Amino acid sequence: MKTKDIMERLRAKYPGESEYLQAVQEVLESIEDVYNQHPEFEQAKIVERMVEPDRIFTFRVTWVDDKGEVQTNTGYRIQFNSAIGPYKGGLRFHRAVTPSMLKFLGFEQTFKNALTTLPMGGAKGGSDFDPKGKTDAEIMRFCQAFMLELWQCIGPDQDIPAGDVGVGGREIGFLYGTYKKLAREYNTGVLTGKGSTWGGSILRPEATGFGALYFTQNLLHHAGKDIKGCKVAVSGFGNVAWGACIKALELGAKVVAISGPDGVCAIPDGITKEMIDYMLVMRASNRDRVEDMATKFPGKAIFTPGKKAWSIPCDIALPCAFQNELSEDDAKELKANGCWCCCEVSNMGCQPGAIHFFQHNGILFAPGKAVNAGGVATSGLEMTQNAEHISWSGKEVDEKLHFIMKSIHEQCVKFGTQPDGSVDYVKGANIAGFMKVAQAMLEQGIV
Ligand code: GLU
Repeated sequence: MKTKDIMERLRAKYPGESEYLQAVQEVLESIEDVYNQHPEFEQAKIVERMVEPDRIFTFRVTWVDDKGEVQTNTGYRIQFNSAIGPYKGGLRFHRAVTPSMLKFLGFEQTFKNALTTLPMGGAKGGSDFDPKGKTDAEIMRFCQAFMLELWQCIGPDQDIPAGDVGVGGREIGFLYGTYKKLAREYNTGVLTGKGSTWGGSILRPEATGFGALYFTQNLLHHAGKDIKGCKVAVSGFGNVAWGACIKALELGAKVVAISGPDGVCAIPDGITKEMIDYMLVMRASNRDRVEDMATKFPGKAIFTPGKKAWSIPCDIALPCAFQNELSEDDAKELKANGCWCCCEVSNMGCQPGAIHFFQHNGILFAPGKAVNAGGVATSGLEMTQNAEHISWSGKEVDEKLHFIMKSIHEQCVKFGTQPDGSVDYVKGANIAGFMKVAQAMLEQGIV
């Protein structure tokens, strides 16, 4: 297998699908050497099969806004790979959603889920619906219209969606209510991220952020460092950033920045519990503005429009917002300001140039598919609880999450340790995830 040849073919076949092509290129580059040591992979054309989704559902979603006007969006569900378990992955509601974005996310999800140690295949879905400025009633009507089509594609042993950007507990509630009505059964295992009184797992809302900090702790420990007292810059203020801030604070780090599409809030004395709680209010308002934090906490949070979190000096950068949110220039600015570690929490949050810069300038870097896997892993734990009709305590879930993040870190070290003893976490995560999925595909024949 030659990455160059496969990429040339994919570029010709899917011109303009830049996010998808970027994600595939990164994985293929890391696995090429290992792959070519396995003629049986080449014979079964594993890579050629793995880069194509199993199937893509596309559907029209029509709903009525508060003014009585009819609105039309496009909905998607991409079932990417089911070699090691049923399709699993979130739904993204964002105005910029395209098939390319969801294909990149579904592809990444396949490897991420393989790293979790749990039996889950990869999928992703969503819509170009823009939650910004929408009322709760509009969000509900959109979710109902979306599920009217989606429900036939999903099931607890088939495909289990969850949240992602623009889809949190509120949306999962509306989606599940509609599913239940259409399917006429109380099948909680069909969605994860549910409310804790109706089948949701304790700690699922916090899990992506908590897991990311547990992974960061493991990485720092391996490098002989400690997170206590470190200054952390976080991008975004949504569910993932929220969980990351809670755990960072708990572990004795100081969160000195959060950001939004409108700019950055510097927090020189470190984020407080009250500010973290206020992030939930900001998310629920659908205003999508981080400036609201500075208005609520004058003098404590200082807003600068148009700037990113990466302009604030820190030790550790945690991208928690959107793909490609951290460029090579941002990476250089981070280093110039003293940053020495970047754990990518958003999916593909760093541009290839930024990753290259980190890796060649002695900055510890780990990719999203390892760092943020605690979210989907806890979804997997929610599925187990649903299947057994029980619910575990927070302590039980947290212990399992700890174990999973430690194990993901170990897999990265196993497959990513370089001759000089340093760990290439990108290589480690990609090879570990790939080997598991490839082996399963091989054993299941040409299907
Ligand atoms: N959207 C999350 C992710 O990127 C979670 C998916 C899930 O829980 O299924 O992994």
